[in-house]
Amino acid sequence: MEAQLARVAEPTAFDMAIEQFNTAADGLNLDQGMRDILSNCKRELTVHFPVRMDDGTIKVYTGYRIQHNMARGPTKGGIRYHPQVDLYEVRALAMWMTWKCAVVGIPYGGAKGGVICDPKSMSIGELERLTRRYSSEISLLIGPERDIPAPDVNTNPQVMAWLMDTISMHKGYSVSAVTTGKPLAIGGSEGRNVATARGCSYVVREAAKVMGMDLKGSTAVVQGFGNAGSAAARFLAEDGVKILAVSDSRGGVFNPDGLNPSDLLRYKEETGSVVGAPRTEFVSNEDLLELECDILIPAALEKQITGKNAARVKAKLIAEAANGPTMPEADRILRGKGTLVVPDILANAGGVTVSYFEWVQDLQSFFWDEAEINHKLEQIMVRSFAAVKKMADERDVDMRVAANMVAIKRVAEATAIRGIYP
Ligand code: NAD
Repeated sequence: MEAQLARVAEPTAFDMAIEQFNTAADGLNLDQGMRDILSNCKRELTVHFPVRMDDGTIKVYTGYRIQHNMARGPTKGGIRYHPQVDLYEVRALAMWMTWKCAVVGIPYGGAKGGVICDPKSMSIGELERLTRRYSSEISLLIGPERDIPAPDVNTNPQVMAWLMDTISMHKGYSVSAVTTGKPLAIGGSEGRNVATARGCSYVVREAAKVMGMDLKGSTAVVQGFGNAGSAAARFLAEDGVKILAVSDSRGGVFNPDGLNPSDLLRYKEETGSVVGAPRTEFVSNEDLLELECDILIPAALEKQITGKNAARVKAKLIAEAANGPTMPEADRILRGKGTLVVPDILANAGGVTVSYFEWVQDLQSFFWDEAEINHKLEQIMVRSFAAVKKMADERDVDMRVAANMVAIKRVAEATAIRGIYP
């Protein structure tokens, strides 16, 4: 009952994903049968599993692995460890992965996984046992030709290494292509750890060109200073952008003269947060979104820019490193104000693109150097941005609707051409 009341009060991430889907499906005149296929997740696995804690007690955790669509290839998507993971969030993230892979033209469908847990309160041993047991539970669904996980919020190359090792122990041989985002020592790819941010910086460059904005001397604010956000801040700073503020789950820091992302990363690694870094003022996560700046990079969680705060967001360009940070109501307000929003499925697709390169390298046991990875990534991001911009201009829609239209058209075509089994 409580959950139902909560649902009435606030749309879930999946409600958002469906609203975005319907808008694009209307634009494409999709028939009802195709809408029904594409708006449902194909497979949803819920697992409840025990983990032995350091103090000897047993704790039962709940996790999910959801595959949204596999018409264009095996499914792909990260694994999230967070106390607020739920079925609706994982469904939405799985659906967004399908559109993301399609919009950049890589041969995957979408999936996502998550475990309801608070990794910050767990020891490394507890995290390893949780990861190995969860990997074992979802081994029903995952595999190099079936469904390939990757890191997401609160998971990292070490977690992927435990997952890869667990699946390899089951099989009796090393299965490196079962996951991506692995350490280099076991078949990871050069450039993967910063690929989401690098891809995001490429689309910021393309968007700035379209807007006639000179990146040198422009200003940016980054919400979320993890894998995606910290590297995005660094790449933007390398392009001459002044980083005014960044934040993490404990709050944000601000300096009108600009912050040094590398110094902040070191400070966060030492202390656990950017808050309190030298020569900075505190700013709350809410206020940070409304700071005067040219570029805003949401790189934390969903539903940050809402119908309530969108009118006060001052950035001219928003590049969504996070998945689902902008709610549909906020999208309408931002479009009305002339803000250019590069949507998540395009802006953060660099991660899955280099994951795809990692998977290809693992399958071939033949590895590329970083220059080749970055070159191929840039080509894909620039080409995808251009395809989405063209759709936006031709159909007079915003970049999110355009990106979804490009992607959904490709998935619908693959679904139709394969036909309905049996
Ligand atoms: P991460 O765990 O490395 O970092 C998340 C960061 O967000 C942390 O700094 C955390 O403190 C901060 N955070 C959490 N809650 C916050 C809040 N309420 N306000 C402000 N900051 C908060 O995760 P990540 O991999 O960088 O993922 C961040 C976002 O990027 C997610 O939406 C994820 O789905 C998306 N994404 C990540 C990748 C990837 O390759 N890692 C790829 C595509 C999309």
